[in-house]
Amino acid sequence: MSPHRAWIGLGSNLDDPQRHVEQALDELDHLPLTRRLGASRCYASRPLGPQDQPDFINAVALIETRLSPLALLDQLQALEQRHRRVRARHWGPRTLDLDLLLFDDSVLDLPRLKVPHPELARRAFVVVPLLELAPSLRLPDGRPLAGMADTLEDAGLAQLLPPT
Ligand code: ATP
Ligand code: CA
Ligand code: CA
Repeated sequence: MSPHRAWIGLGSNLDDPQRHVEQALDELDHLPLTRRLGASRCYASRPLGPQDQPDFINAVALIETRLSPLALLDQLQALEQRHRRVRARHWGPRTLDLDLLLFDDSVLDLPRLKVPHPELARRAFVVVPLLELAPSLRLPDGRPLAGMADTLEDAGLAQLLPPT
């Protein structure tokens, strides 16, 4: 069977965020049964929710994997743990956040996993890097992502240098 294609959203706003994001991009390439096919540039964005926290660095990655969606989520959460992520408050600061944005054309509504990520189309720091990598990307329902970025508040999104 051919491997699956999954899009991962990365974010960090603690403890040298760019380093966490770049390291995680590398680590995604080393997950079991998985390789990374591409990565966007890093973007800086203002935090969602509580504003008394540092700006975020965000990026998205495209991976090819033979893991199931839940096995992939397990791997992503283990990776967050290796970056010593501590869950203190909702949308609070974190060393690493890995969201499974899209998994093939799957639509999943499980207690632990919603795909596409429910907020995907509402977040410039997700839509803009996705479009950078895949200008013709569509959601499972067929809606093209292109154009969505125009209607989003850019949330202070700024493009940074490509990851090294
Ligand atoms: P948001 O999901 O709005 O970006 P968040 O990333 O801060 O918020 P977390 O605390 O990282 O939220 O995750 C809470 C739970 O969301 C996780 O334990 C996970 O089981 C669940 N979850 C559901 N769908 C997804 C998904 N597509 N990717 C990652 N986690 C998901
Ligand atoms: Ca998130
Ligand atoms: Ca998350």
